[in-house]
Amino acid sequence: MNAVPLLDVQNVSQAFSKPDGDQLVVLEGVNVTLREGEIVGLLGRSGSGKSTLLRVIAGLNLPTVGEVRYLGNSVEGPADGIAMVFQGFALFPWLTVLENVQLGLEAQGVPAAEGRQRSLQAIDLIGLDGFESAYPRELSGGMRQRVGFARALVVHPNILLMDEPFSALDVLTAETLRTDFLDLWCEGQLPIKSVLLVTHNIDEAVQMCDRLLIFSTHPGRVVSEIPISMPRPRNANDPRYIALVDRVYSEMTTRRNGEQRPGGRVERFPGTGIGTILTHVSSNLLSGLMEAVAEEPYRGKADLPDIAENLQMEAGDLLPVAEALQMLRFAEIERGDIRLTEAGAQFVREETDERKRLFSRHLLTYVPLAAHIRRVLDERKGKSAPKRRFADELEDYMAEEAAEETLRTVISWGRYAEAFAYDDNQQAFSLDNPA
Ligand code: ADP
Ligand code: MG
Repeated sequence: MNAVPLLDVQNVSQAFSKPDGDQLVVLEGVNVTLREGEIVGLLGRSGSGKSTLLRVIAGLNLPTVGEVRYLGNSVEGPADGIAMVFQGFALFPWLTVLENVQLGLEAQGVPAAEGRQRSLQAIDLIGLDGFESAYPRELSGGMRQRVGFARALVVHPNILLMDEPFSALDVLTAETLRTDFLDLWCEGQLPIKSVLLVTHNIDEAVQMCDRLLIFSTHPGRVVSEIPISMPRPRNANDPRYIALVDRVYSEMTTRRNGEQRPGGRVERFPGTGIGTILTHVSSNLLSGLMEAVAEEPYRGKADLPDIAENLQMEAGDLLPVAEALQMLRFAEIERGDIRLTEAGAQFVREETDERKRLFSRHLLTYVPLAAHIRRVLDERKGKSAPKRRFADELEDYMAEEAAEETLRTVISWGRYAEAFAYDDNQQAFSLDNPA
C-alpha cells in the first residue's frame, strides 16, 4: 500500500452564512483518507453534509477550515484526477450520448479523435453499446445514469466520487446498475483507483464498500468507522451481513454527546425551536409503523432492520419514519431498536377520532413549529395566515428546499390531526373550527 494516500481530507469544516448573518456549520473537523483499491462509503442522514463534503473534495467548494490533499497536493479547484457521478442525471438534452460523454475530455484538452475513441470505450464498458447517437430523452432513467457514469469514467480519474448515484432510480434498475458497477470493479475493468460513495441506503453501503464512515448531523462529522472484510458478492442472508446491517443501524441511531437527538433539535434554537427540519413522512406511514411494532412478534419493541424487512421497506427509508415517531414521543430509538412509548401503545389501541386527538396533542406539544403555527392562527382575528410568513421564518434556519419540505410535513401532520387546516390554492393556514 502506498505511503501517501490518494486522498486526505484534513480537519475540514464548512460553514455557510444564513440570511440573518449567523453561520450554519455544516461540516466540522472532518477527516477522511482514501487509499488505492478501496470503496469507502459515507453514510449519514439527509442534511448531514454529505454532498457538501463531496463538493469540497471535488474542489467545487473551498472549506472554511482545513484542507483536502490529493496525491499530497492541496486541492484548490477542480482536480483532474477526481470525477463525480451525481444523484440526478445532469445530462445535456441537446447532446447525444457520445457527445455528453466526450464533453469531459474536451475540457481536458484531449484531441478529438482520441476523445471519441475513449468515449466509445467508456460507453461500451458501462453497457450502452449501440446507444452512442441516442439523445437523453430517448433513454430510460437507468440508461441515463449509465451515461453519467460513462462521463465520469472517461477521464480515467483516480478517484470517483458518487453522490447517491442510484437513489433516483427505481429499485430494480438501481440493483442492476449497482451489480454491474461492482462486477466491473471486482474484475479490475474500471479505469479508477478508488471510490467514495455517498449513500443513505444501508444495504447498498454494506453490499459495496470496504469501509464505512458514519456521519453525524448538525454538524456533519465522522463519528464511527466500520471495516467490511466479507468477500464479494455478499449474500444478504449471510449472518455476517445481517450483523453488519444491524451494527450500521445501531451506529446511525446512537445519540452522541454534542449531537442533537432527532427529536431534540429543538434545543438548538432556544426560545422558539421552530428551526427543526421535518422530513416528510405521511401520517399513514407513522400509524403503520406503530401498528407493526405493537403487533406480534414485536409486541412494542422491534429491531429496525428486521421490521424494515418485514414491511418490505428499505432500511434507509424506515429511519425517517422512526425518527418522526421519536420526535412526536410515540416511540424511542436506541441502538438500532424502536420501542413504543406509553402514548404510542395507546395510539394503536384507539379508534380514528381518539387517535387524531392524541396525535394533535403530541404534535402541538412536541413539534414547536406546529405549536407556533397554531399560536399565530389563534391570535389572528381572521384565524388565518399565509404560508409565506412561516417560510420566511424557517429560512433563517435552513435552506429554502428544507423549509419547503418542513412546511409540507407540518401541513400533512396538521391536517391529519385536525390541528389546523391548509388551503393549497390560497397557500394559507387557517383554523377551520377554532377550538
Ligand atoms: P446531505 O447531502 O447530507 O443531504 P447537504 O450537504 O446537501 O446534505 O446539506 C447539508 C446542509 O448544508 C443542509 O442544511 C443544506 O441546507 C446546507 N447547505 C448546503 N449547501 C449550502 C449552501 N451553498 N448555502 C447554504 N447552506 C447550504
Ligand atoms: Mg446530498
